Amino acid sequence: MPAQRSRAKRINHKHHSHTTFLWRMIGILLVSLLAIVFYLYHDSMLTLIYPKTQEDKTVATTSISTKQEPTSEASKANQASSEEMTWEKQTEPVKIPILMYHAVHIMAPEEAANANLIVDPTTFESHLKAFQEAGYYTLTPEEAYKILTENVLPKDKKVVWLTFDDSLWDFYSIAYPLLKQYHMKATNNVITGTTDTQPDHLTLEQIKEMQENGMSFQSHTVNHPDLEYSTPEAQNAEVIDSKEYLDHNLNQDTIVLAYPAGRYSEQTVKTVENAQYKLGVTTNEGLASAADGLLTLNRVRILPVTTADGLLQTIGQ
Ligand SMILES: [Zn+2]
Repeated sequence: MPAQRSRAKRINHKHHSHTTFLWRMIGILLVSLLAIVFYLYHDSMLTLIYPKTQEDKTVATTSISTKQEPTSEASKANQASSEEMTWEKQTEPVKIPILMYHAVHIMAPEEAANANLIVDPTTFESHLKAFQEAGYYTLTPEEAYKILTENVLPKDKKVVWLTFDDSLWDFYSIAYPLLKQYHMKATNNVITGTTDTQPDHLTLEQIKEMQENGMSFQSHTVNHPDLEYSTPEAQNAEVIDSKEYLDHNLNQDTIVLAYPAGRYSEQTVKTVENAQYKLGVTTNEGLASAADGLLTLNRVRILPVTTADGLLQTIGQ
């Protein structure tokens, strides 16, 4: 008896598990079917649910493959003013202020040795505020090139070109948000060898995001050597490799080289010219003019003690 009962139970159990198996299979099939349908049509489904997200996604994709126009409000304002700008031929040779910043953050005590390269965020913002109130327009590298080669200026506008050397972390975290707030543009000269390799420098992702929002990125060589005392081969590699990196990754024609520590020789300038750069910016003090040579342009050094009033006096046109 016990044996028979257990056999019956087994059969029963077998039958039961067979039915469960069938139901499970049907369940799995249904889920798979749903997954396939979702996979095939999720784009249109998502568009129905989140039309804006889909639009953003399209913009982001095209901006990688093509040279996308900046999309933020700040850069739209800049873009618009750039397009509407009327250029006027000048009778006197034009001189433009190219400002040279490095770091913008609150200096830590252990940074005392680099104190002259660090500007307090409050000071930096006071500069931007002063430019805004005085009606300054912030230039792109391409506009600076146009001004210096065609001897033109935008109608009814004062101009300034904000440059930052060394592609430091705080350009993204501190300077860039302020620049956006004031609808201004700046150029950062990148040490390409530090990108994605050194934590205190900008990442390529940050650079791309800022580029989409109107900031420019130009070359400050690969390793920041003293070019004046580098071999011709080393100079060549530094200026060519950094340009290739930026051209390729940012889908642009990189036109500016900032000499590391402002050091260069005649040989360096020739190398930079051969590498197809159009402008070279130095640490020689003063306003920039074509007469000094497009590859050896002066800049105005910004110090921690540079006040907004003092700066306007220095660059006043
Ligand atoms: Zn530097």
